[in-house]
Amino acid sequence: MPPDSRAKPEVVVQGIPASQGIAYGEVFVYIQSDVEVPSYVVDPAKRIDEIARFDQAILVTRQQITKIKHEVEKNIGPEEALIFDAHLMVLEDQALIGETIREFESTGRNIETCFNKVSARYIKAFSEIDDEYLRERAGDIRDVAQRVLQNLLGQAENSLARLADKRVIVANDISPSDSASVDRSAALAVVTDSGSKTSHAVIVARSMKVPAVVGVRDLTRRAQNGDWVLVDGYDGLVILNPSESTLFRYGKIREQRKGLEARLMEANRLPAVTRDGVEVALLANIEKVDEVQLVRDHNAAGIGLFRTEYLYLNSARMPGEAEQASAYRTVAEAFAPAPVIIRTLDLGGDKPMAGNPHLFPKENNPFMGFRAIRFCLEHTDIFKEQLRAILIASAAGNVRIMYPMISGAEELARAGVLLEECKAELRARGTPFDEKLAAGTMIEIPSAAATADILARQCDFFSIGTNDLIQYLLAIDRVNDRIAHLYEPTHPAVLRTLKGVVDEAHAAKIPVSVCGEMAGDPVLAPLLIGLGVDSLSMTPPLIPAVRYVVRAMTSKEAKALAKAALGMNSAKEIQALCLKFYNERMKLE
Ligand code: PEP
Ligand code: MG
Repeated sequence: MPPDSRAKPEVVVQGIPASQGIAYGEVFVYIQSDVEVPSYVVDPAKRIDEIARFDQAILVTRQQITKIKHEVEKNIGPEEALIFDAHLMVLEDQALIGETIREFESTGRNIETCFNKVSARYIKAFSEIDDEYLRERAGDIRDVAQRVLQNLLGQAENSLARLADKRVIVANDISPSDSASVDRSAALAVVTDSGSKTSHAVIVARSMKVPAVVGVRDLTRRAQNGDWVLVDGYDGLVILNPSESTLFRYGKIREQRKGLEARLMEANRLPAVTRDGVEVALLANIEKVDEVQLVRDHNAAGIGLFRTEYLYLNSARMPGEAEQASAYRTVAEAFAPAPVIIRTLDLGGDKPMAGNPHLFPKENNPFMGFRAIRFCLEHTDIFKEQLRAILIASAAGNVRIMYPMISGAEELARAGVLLEECKAELRARGTPFDEKLAAGTMIEIPSAAATADILARQCDFFSIGTNDLIQYLLAIDRVNDRIAHLYEPTHPAVLRTLKGVVDEAHAAKIPVSVCGEMAGDPVLAPLLIGLGVDSLSMTPPLIPAVRYVVRAMTSKEAKALAKAALGMNSAKEIQALCLKFYNERMKLE
């Protein structure tokens, strides 16, 4: 039973929303703390035994991590388990092991002290790297190092396994091995002091389908076991000891959201057709093979964007042709005859590769740097391996290929030459593939938009990546919080550019889709349709709301909306116009 809410004052903390939903429950505080390491001099006669003890601890740690990896693979999924490959690599790191032994040989102090010192140096070095993803790898080393120390000291595992039934986890951070030991039915929500949207806590919360808020700074110091907390994963709010009026308000919000979602899901079985009979294909954006069911549940007309880089991100090695072909084939088969658009590797920018820093040297301006097709056209061995894998999968369904970050005709032509080379190689091997495989390009760089007429003659379809297109067009870094308010999808420059691209695509008789976040915004989808976009691709849970608005309007109304918007001077005016259009149609009885 919740305690008397008047006993403690209500505390509202703003964090970063990381997984949607609203939860209310008792707090379970979890603090990851460092193992206490004793320091002493080892008897010189026992030095060999001390090194053997170290070898044994590494071996036991490896066995524990391998076991966790298999459990996660089984219970959560193969992609989430990849992080443990990175952990196993820490244990293989000869520099870390070798330095520890050298430290031991020179100081004669116990191996725990030496290992603790060396691993702390590594953690510090990683945590100072000016790159969010690599900084988080410091967490991997810390996680493994703590486990090795526990094994050396014969301590029990420090884990979330003690989680009592139905609690909200309030943690300073959650490491991958912690997350593997969570009883998945026991967590109501996850709140962490630290973290970003790419942190492990978020991955865990999403895979458990519970709300999560990260970056709440010192909540673990303010909250105590037994407190009650309300977690709003939509707006990133955490309310400790909420008052009755807050609970009442949230109860209503939760009911409203649930009711709305249920009605939208109910209508989601119907075709995405405007009231005057124009069909708009609503496709799904996916990042992992295991999202197939999520896509089915939301009745998508196919996959409009498969972001394949997620197969590589957590991996210490590049997945080979067979591994990739099997992943792509699974998706192609799952949706055949519906289309599956596989985008070639878009690493770099906000998606650096963890295990291969040598392939992605540090850059001052990664969004304008060595990413996506630029990387692929330089590393043609890696690129061709992926092209062949996509071609192989094309025999199993309606696969299409798409190139990211194309800036002009030359890059597109070079990608096309490599694709032809791969086709010839497969023919020579006798491996079947779809000879008519369609190849399209993303339009996400202003130079590509400005040369859309040229590109349209060189490919089979366009997909507009508004996430990047807007950032490059408006010079607004898409991941910089300070200027987030200036990132305006309805800026007249964006609208004019979209119109130009759509018109050129249609003049060349090729279809055009939008696969950036703008496509999944039900307020802006009518504008895109009015501009002439043929299909929209989005995160599956956004499909029901977009479908609802599509069914509530006519294509004529959408065209008139786009025409009026193109005549306006400011992003705010256009946004207000779209909101009015949306509100007039979104009347859910
Ligand atoms: C885009 O830029 O709009 C897009 C869909 O690609 P990503 O978000 O993966 O860069
Ligand atoms: Mg992009």
